[in-house]
Amino acid sequence: MTASPTHPAPPPTPALSAWRAEFIHPADEHAFRTSVQHSMARQLRVALALWAGLLLLFALPDLQVLGAASPLFWQLLAYRGAMAALLLGAAGVLRRQPHWATDGRLVAWIAVIGYPFYFLLFHVREDVRIWTVGMVMFMQFCMFLFLPGRVVVFVPVAVFGVVGSLLSFVLLGRPPATLLGLAFLLTLPALVGYVAAARLQRVQRQEFALRQRLSETNAALQAEIAQRIELQAELERQATTDPLTGLVNRREFSRRFALDLARTQRDASPLSLVLIDLDHFKRINDQYGHAAGDAVLCTLARLSGSCFRSIDTVGRLGGEEFAVLLPGADLQCAAQAARRLAQRLADTPVEHEGQRIVAGMTAGVVQRLPSEDSLDSLLQRADLALYAGKQAGRARTMLALPDGSHQEFYTGLHSIG
Ligand code: GH3
Ligand code: MG
Ligand code: MG
Repeated sequence: MTASPTHPAPPPTPALSAWRAEFIHPADEHAFRTSVQHSMARQLRVALALWAGLLLLFALPDLQVLGAASPLFWQLLAYRGAMAALLLGAAGVLRRQPHWATDGRLVAWIAVIGYPFYFLLFHVREDVRIWTVGMVMFMQFCMFLFLPGRVVVFVPVAVFGVVGSLLSFVLLGRPPATLLGLAFLLTLPALVGYVAAARLQRVQRQEFALRQRLSETNAALQAEIAQRIELQAELERQATTDPLTGLVNRREFSRRFALDLARTQRDASPLSLVLIDLDHFKRINDQYGHAAGDAVLCTLARLSGSCFRSIDTVGRLGGEEFAVLLPGADLQCAAQAARRLAQRLADTPVEHEGQRIVAGMTAGVVQRLPSEDSLDSLLQRADLALYAGKQAGRARTMLALPDGSHQEFYTGLHSIG
């Protein structure tokens, strides 16, 4: 399967080092550790508290064997107490510095300080030496599995555990065969712990990388969706709007007519239409230039906004011809609105390159007849009225009466019987 050119292939998963089981790139490793530091610090605090508890608990067997009168018991207890305080102190520090949990070195140092306690036990508690060996084996394993996922810092600690234990046994005068057996016993759990922990570390980091890639892909997808929605809105706007004036175009005007027709038919309310044509527009173009003509067209569009209601639709049907749909308005109302616009146009000279252009308009007004349900029919009747207005000398508003005749509209004087 090949990736489509518009959808680039996702970036490759960051590489992991083979034996450290960490991201090779420091930025990736830092991002991973930051993402897990709080949960890891929580787990580590529990582990440290357990460790401290166990250390103190094993003072009981010491007491049983050595007795309260033995100074050795008190020395061991002091060591146990100091270690427990160190562990609990570290747990407290992690509450404020959670990133120390993912770093691993804090715990590694505590382990290095803790190990000599067991080396000492080899000497002073001969009776439990075998248990102490078992305890060190357990530590070698747990260190990798239950402490922070950084095998790299625990490998030297495990080596320290093996070497220190061996030295203790050398000082005890044990034969080479015993030393070999001990080395094997202490190395094996460390190896198993290392392999298991390294695998866990790799899986955790791979999962983190996948999650990150998923969220990056999601973000890219969201951005693309937003871009497409924007593009669609822009396309819709372009498909319905006249680019020069920002008014609706003929197509959108027809669509709005269908909506207004359905609504006014349902309410049995009137629906009127005004057709507007600028007077001697060609002259304006010829005299002042095409750009000046454009400015006049834009001025008419702007003024129409304040002369008609928000429910009215003003459209540019083409050239210098405009039409307005007035749902709920009768012939009189529509004619009044058309007059208002003509008046405002006459009162608003268009400033263009230092010239003041006064434009005029003629309008033809129709009210839908009960049987009339096509826009073309309304436009046709309005056009005839407009033509009559032009013939009569322009700069006027002509009414298309139901009987097919035309009459000029005079504000405040005219009434239709
Ligand atoms: P009348 O009073 O009879 O309407 O005269 P008129 O000059 O306005 O009539 P006519 O329809 O002959 O002229 C319309 C002119 O409108 C012709 C055309 O060049 C111009 N026109 C059409 N579209 C545009 C446009 O987008 N911008 C400009 N500036 N002029 C346009
Ligand atoms: Mg004209
Ligand atoms: Mg014309």
